[in-house]
Amino acid sequence: MRVGLFGGSFDPPHRGHVAVARAAAEAFELERVLMAPVGRQPLKGVSTPFGDRLAMVGLACGGDKRLVASDVDAPRGDGVPNYTVDTLGRLRQEMAGVELFGIVGMDAFREMGKWREPERLMELAEWIVVTRPGYEGDVGGISGRAHLLDAVRVDVSATGLRERLRLGEDCSGLVPGAVLRYIAENGLYRGSAG
Ligand code: ATP
Repeated sequence: MRVGLFGGSFDPPHRGHVAVARAAAEAFELERVLMAPVGRQPLKGVSTPFGDRLAMVGLACGGDKRLVASDVDAPRGDGVPNYTVDTLGRLRQEMAGVELFGIVGMDAFREMGKWREPERLMELAEWIVVTRPGYEGDVGGISGRAHLLDAVRVDVSATGLRERLRLGEDCSGLVPGAVLRYIAENGLYRGSAG
């Protein structure tokens, strides 16, 4: 079985994330894509509670059986940030015999040198590196264990979205409808910047 791990803040999940997960599943014949919101991000602050982000990811996955919201990166009891190298190591143990693929946008891939144990990350999984508007050109670092997927052209970022939501602008083209309803019902992203 071929399984992808697609981690991120998902604050909130948007159509770019869904397009990435689907395109990766299609191109690399993945039976499952675990969409895993990170509990405590080592490199940036995330203020929306993990439970809300997990619930929104679950709603964003709706309609495609290959995509599942995963709590594999839930906040740790000991307060230590969630490092992808630990998550992949655990998945390898728990899912013996599975072929593991990490899925990242090109912007995140370019930052992977700053992640914990970059070489080990390459050993633990193969990587699917997905282009993102503004991050298509340079494919430096793509080698035997990393594969370029040039299939996604959805120009949306969670940072831009949070600002639009804060201003009360229409985001229906950028966020799955069920996620937008959850945001409205739970009063998320209102009134505070960032
Ligand atoms: P932020 O603007 O807060 O940094 P984001 O939109 O980049 O958020 P994340 O949850 O940080 O969303 O991203 C998770 C993963 O999804 C990362 O690997 C990122 O590169 C990738 N990604 C996010 N949006 C897109 C997009 N529109 N196209 C391709 N990849 C994307």
